[in-house]
Amino acid sequence: MTADPDCLFCKIVAGDIPGDIVHTGERTLAFRDINPQAPLHVLVVPRDHEPNAAASAHADPEMFAEIATTARAVATAEGYDDYRLVFNTGAGVGQTVFHTHCHVLAGRPMTWPPG
Ligand code: IMP
Repeated sequence: MTADPDCLFCKIVAGDIPGDIVHTGERTLAFRDINPQAPLHVLVVPRDHEPNAAASAHADPEMFAEIATTARAVATAEGYDDYRLVFNTGAGVGQTVFHTHCHVLAGRPMTWPPG
């Protein structure tokens, strides 16, 4: 298990700060976003610290697949067949927390392209 002591999401994974947890997996954790942008807005994170999706996919492809299946399980459990997954990768596109996370968004109409 790799963790960064200064990382917010590592602290949620460790239980050092509270998260509104909706799914606990062996290698992933899902919790509600503190500033929801849709009726369903959950973050799926790997327990292992990597700074972004590309790094996680490279380090552990099976775990990266688990993020997608966890996202589907979360959406299904909340009653949504349709949902959007977002991995902001890099500060230039809005990433603010540098621990890999998948936004799971559902429950309202969504436009394309995203802003
Ligand atoms: P990013 O902009 O893609 O890096 O997304 C980071 C997300 O983390 C944002 O949607 C924030 O609202 C969310 N966030 C920040 N702090 C917390 C927290 O303590 N609990 C849950 N979500 C958080």
